[in-house]
Amino acid sequence: MITVMKFGGTSVGSPEALQRAAGIILSEKNDKIVVASAMSGITNFLVKGSESLPDNRQEIIDEFEKKHLDVAGQLLNEEQMAAFMEDFNARMQKFKELLWDGAVPNDPYYIDNLTSQGERFSTLILCHALKAAGARSVALTSEDCGIYAEGKPLSGSADLRRTESMMAMKVKPYINDGVIPVITGFYGIKSDGLPLTFGRGGSDYSAAVVANAMNADVLEIWTDVDGFMSTDPRIVPEAIKIDEMNFSEAAELAYFGAKVLHPRTIEPVRMKHIPLKVRNSFKPDEPGTIIHHLRKPKDDLLRSVAIKTDLSIISIGSAEIAYHPKMVARIVEKIAENEVVIYSISTSLSTVAFLVHNNDVRSILLKLNTLDPEDIERIEVKSDMALVCAVGDNLLSKCGVSAEIFTAVKEARANVEMISEGASDVSLNFVVPMSRATDVVKILHNKYVGGGSNEGL
Ligand code: ASP
Ligand code: MG
Repeated sequence: MITVMKFGGTSVGSPEALQRAAGIILSEKNDKIVVASAMSGITNFLVKGSESLPDNRQEIIDEFEKKHLDVAGQLLNEEQMAAFMEDFNARMQKFKELLWDGAVPNDPYYIDNLTSQGERFSTLILCHALKAAGARSVALTSEDCGIYAEGKPLSGSADLRRTESMMAMKVKPYINDGVIPVITGFYGIKSDGLPLTFGRGGSDYSAAVVANAMNADVLEIWTDVDGFMSTDPRIVPEAIKIDEMNFSEAAELAYFGAKVLHPRTIEPVRMKHIPLKVRNSFKPDEPGTIIHHLRKPKDDLLRSVAIKTDLSIISIGSAEIAYHPKMVARIVEKIAENEVVIYSISTSLSTVAFLVHNNDVRSILLKLNTLDPEDIERIEVKSDMALVCAVGDNLLSKCGVSAEIFTAVKEARANVEMISEGASDVSLNFVVPMSRATDVVKILHNKYVGGGSNEGL
């Protein structure tokens, strides 16, 4: 049995946190593989540093080195520190070369390489913390493991097949030998061997990729919250932790607002039916949330309500667009050129509307301006919208659910600007102005989540 255990930035961000992480790893009975993020604050520090290159190279090196040595120095005794320094100096040498010899300011591939560096050092410290506790462990980079990726900087995707065969060769022998591999999260390597990151927060996805590649029996994401909550506790203090979810529910929630997991974490484990647990490394005795295939349906109308804010609706009017599917295709193609995320699309006879992030509106409008003006009658933008994502069991097959939900929305005096229902059986998504969104969430949560009444349904 293999457990893949992933530790986030705060769970490896201080000597105490690293000690706690090492304790959690050592108390796991199965064979284990560890994946870690950079220590908290380090990736932000590198991103910021990359913006003022090349003048600040020495400052980046000095501060980066100091941050890691301070933590390692507090965690390890003299003898352990001496062993650590050998590995550390070798990695630090490469880090310096990357900044002095290889700096290519403003090149997104270079920035991906630079910002992926934090993981190489957090994993090294964690590996030595495990050794200090008497375990056998090895710190492996994504290069060492053969975690292959393709795509664009900051949005790479793993090549799961290639990674699986590489890891069987490069990592499996350590497991067979009783050694605990501690692997860098956040990035894979392109075919040319250079790093490509999976996007901010992407270490969760890395861990799912490792679990997939190693055919793990369980993936544990150790973070700094108790698990998935029924809604954001800052909005509704009575929010409850969700003990159990299925993959679709977790995917919808992670995508539409809950910040517990990187949304792409679900797919690599869902494909191989690997259960995923979200656990709090600061409260290792709590069971967290388990996400798997087998959850039994419950009676509550809703299980959770998430919101995603700072969105805009771009509506494009064009005569009888519904009869011209090619025109819809051209519009979508234009928007897709920018690789922005489209959260929802809705069409009517003469309008097609897209839900996108506020920050993407400008670049989309520039693209739409290049369409044939004869095709487009008008373009309207409504900004500062929020998408409410209501998740529950079999929402589509229960009669009257929408009526219930929209009655609650009316109570919050919110106008529904856009609806997307039917795309998934576990969620009903709709858009309201941001100013009303928290009231909508409060009312929906109080009425329908965790023991709220849903009589008549
Ligand atoms: N260290 C990376 C970040 O801060 C990846 C991660 O934390 O998951 O985005
Ligand atoms: Mg994270």
